Amino acid sequence: MNKFKKIIACFIILFSVITHAENTKLIAMQIAHKESATQVTFVRNQLDTQRIFSLSRPKRLVIDFPRTRFTTSIKTISLTNTLIKNIRYGYPKSGTLRVVLDINANSQFKILSPSYNTKLIIAIYSSATQTTLIKPSAPPLRPIVVVIDPGHGGKDPGALGFLGTKEKNVTLAIAKQLVDLLNQQPRVRALLTRRGDYFVPLRDRLKLARKANANLFIAVHADSYFNTEAGGASVYALSQHGATSEAARWLARRDNYSELGGVDLSELTDQSYLLRSVLIDLAQTATITDSLRLGTIMLSKLRTVTTLHYSRVEQAPFMVLKSPDIPSILVETGFLSNTKEERHLRDKNYQTKIAQAIYDGIRIYLQKNSLDHTGT
Ligand SMILES: [Zn+2]
Repeated sequence: MNKFKKIIACFIILFSVITHAENTKLIAMQIAHKESATQVTFVRNQLDTQRIFSLSRPKRLVIDFPRTRFTTSIKTISLTNTLIKNIRYGYPKSGTLRVVLDINANSQFKILSPSYNTKLIIAIYSSATQTTLIKPSAPPLRPIVVVIDPGHGGKDPGALGFLGTKEKNVTLAIAKQLVDLLNQQPRVRALLTRRGDYFVPLRDRLKLARKANANLFIAVHADSYFNTEAGGASVYALSQHGATSEAARWLARRDNYSELGGVDLSELTDQSYLLRSVLIDLAQTATITDSLRLGTIMLSKLRTVTTLHYSRVEQAPFMVLKSPDIPSILVETGFLSNTKEERHLRDKNYQTKIAQAIYDGIRIYLQKNSLDHTGT
């Protein structure tokens, strides 16, 4: 059965032309319901803080957006079969937009969105316990952490070229240049999963990204194929199938992976397996959407320096792409089995061009997400 069938989505985007330029605009609101959880997505045109709290009698969820104008419409949003009874908004304090969601008395909420995002994603779910959760406002200028993962290393050379080029050396050379470029950006902190020629297990690469609170994860590889004519770059995001099996793993091992995109799963010990799986699934689906968006931008930049093996973002269950809440892509920079491309990939100037293209892709993605994101 198509798992998305149960999602009800309304996406409304209207731009205000009269709002003061410095104000943040709330440009879209989306409500989706899946099994036992309702997901509310707010999209702003720029990074800003918010304050979220719940009040009782009647139970309601209150979101205060400072310096923000409401520039979309709530009239066409369907609340049928959701945990929300009513939505309203106003400006109780000058300049502060307050959105109030009337919810069932036994509902709780969790914030699912990454902190740097202009999107605020909240999951509302039923709970037997009635506690009030207050999420402090996220600091708006936390550095954006980008983890670069040079494929293979040490005992694992990766693909081998006819001229003797090893994939592990190509990926490290490109990744190092990429990290240097990224770290010249004032708000970006870029890290490598390995800094030299040594072996790092795939799970450890994911753990490193999680520990660093990564906002993006980019794996760098080089391809190989028995047909030596095959050539060009490609970009992969996680497939839904890979996501589903990973969600099952997270559920089974929640002691090790208790924190998920602001969702503290350990708080949910009294909750059902189904609820936990829905929360993970909602986060993962949002992450794959972001990964595909990043991948599409990446292909448009790679196209300027090389041919493309696949012109669209491919999806596969690669282990290193399986963080449920970190947008992740894998870039295949070219084919080492193609001698012409091998000559390119071992050339420092060409490596610089590839690193620059990946860097441009990341930069544009971050701009679109945090500065002029329109929710489309
Ligand atoms: Zn590889």
